[in-house]
Amino acid sequence: MCLNLKIAIDGPAGSGKTTTAKLLAKALGLMHVDTGAMYRAVALKILKEGVDAHDEASVRRLLGHTKICQEVSNDEVKTYLDGEDVSEEIRAQEVDRVVSTISAYPFVREKMVEIQRQLAQKGGVVIEGRDIGTVVLPDADLKVFMKATPEERARRRFKELLSRGADADFREVLQEIKMRDEIDSTRSHSPLKVPDDAYIIDTTNLSIEEQVDLILKEVRRRFCR
Ligand code: C5P
Repeated sequence: MCLNLKIAIDGPAGSGKTTTAKLLAKALGLMHVDTGAMYRAVALKILKEGVDAHDEASVRRLLGHTKICQEVSNDEVKTYLDGEDVSEEIRAQEVDRVVSTISAYPFVREKMVEIQRQLAQKGGVVIEGRDIGTVVLPDADLKVFMKATPEERARRRFKELLSRGADADFREVLQEIKMRDEIDSTRSHSPLKVPDDAYIIDTTNLSIEEQVDLILKEVRRRFCR
């Protein structure tokens, strides 16, 4: 019953989208597409090349020589930058600091959206990001919007950074989350916003299992005959 479904999940950083999308895709036998990872790969490239994220002309030039793709292997999304698997590297805090700046450029968004639509065109996807239900797939079968307080989202991101061995500071992580929220939701091109017809979940006090369960129930309610 779910083979061709297109499920869009949007929400701010740390709202639980990636883990939820991964488990949901597995439960429903769908492909998981992580669009944040694509923007992160572009951000990683500019860091590697020593380009200033605010130097729009240089970012544009670099993007012309950048290849991003995504595959799923053993239920894990793998993100490739110019043929190299960068799935781990893109989670670094240095990437967090510049990703929203480069994501606000319309030419970056246009290139990423084209890749994302190609991946999703046949259906059978759980695709997550900021503008999926509003711009990338406005015809998605189900649009989920996940939210949580900034403090809870920072706590999750802080824990993740520590588990990766990073030397993180909670107040700094909270500040960065708030700054990303601000840039992502105020940019002029496809800002983060709740799609009109979204199923909204506040994940502040929910476990991952509870979040996945809620969405699975909603899928069954809407699509089981
Ligand atoms: O989802 P994640 O936190 O990994 O996304 C990283 C960044 O990529 C976001 O803060 C946002 O700036 C950008 N992004 C976006 N549109 C998407 C997905 C992510 O602008 N669809």
